[in-house]
Amino acid sequence: MRDFSTDHRWLSINTATVRRQHGTEVPLPEIIEACARHGIRAISPWRDQVAAAGLDNVARLVKAHGLELSGYCRGGMFPYADEAGMKAARDDNRRAVDEACALKAACLVLVVGSLPGALAGKAAHKDIQLARNQVTDAIGELLDYAGSMGMPLAIEPLHPMYAADRACINTLEQALDVCDELDPMRSGALGVAVDVYHVWWDPKLKAQIARAGKDRLLAFHVCDWLTPTADLLNDRGMMGDGVIEIPKIRRWAEAQGFTGYSEVEIFSTGNWWQRGTDEILSTCIERHRSAV
Ligand code: ZN
Repeated sequence: MRDFSTDHRWLSINTATVRRQHGTEVPLPEIIEACARHGIRAISPWRDQVAAAGLDNVARLVKAHGLELSGYCRGGMFPYADEAGMKAARDDNRRAVDEACALKAACLVLVVGSLPGALAGKAAHKDIQLARNQVTDAIGELLDYAGSMGMPLAIEPLHPMYAADRACINTLEQALDVCDELDPMRSGALGVAVDVYHVWWDPKLKAQIARAGKDRLLAFHVCDWLTPTADLLNDRGMMGDGVIEIPKIRRWAEAQGFTGYSEVEIFSTGNWWQRGTDEILSTCIERHRSAV
């Protein structure tokens, strides 16, 4: 396993981690400048942050600072209740692929969605298997487009607590079943994003990381699971502050040949987002060395 204790060459910052400072929104160009100042080599920005700053502007800044994108957040939210919903999701995901290409991202991360309308508080139906079928079909269609553009798609399984609204793919095994179905030849165009926050509890995790193998391990996200967790979405912990055995999981991934970035992705309304950008980034660097 790579030794992270003396440098942070393989640290990437998911820009949600520093999107708020003392509770107020930080523009992406400022985040990019801050990362460059801290010697951070890679980021993974969110589409809304890129849109607010302008795609061309962000592409220029990324290039000027020699940054890489460990991923682009995010595509997905595929399930639909009607024809118009299906078309809207398809078009939006194609735009996400285009943006990821413009930014030369390593992959487009997919949070696949689940019961249509649930995220807004009113699910159009309760048939999660229907949602899963729609997700598989939609990824299959997007794969044709993304494949032609050379942009790998990384399915991110989400913790089962999000099964109703954010993702009906909840384990690495499920995500890899979709990969096997849609890309049996393991072309490299379709794989998974392993986020320790979502998968750490899974008794099959080690075996499924081995099943994924190097060609399907496209991204590795880290943070920590706090006890207690105060908010299901926005109370993620800094690495080392919770109960996830992060180095063990990283070792499993690296045993398969994974050599990519370790991307810090922390949503934290009550704690980290109340602090300053420099303090958050300094802490990420320190914990990347000691707890990842
Ligand atoms: Zn993630």
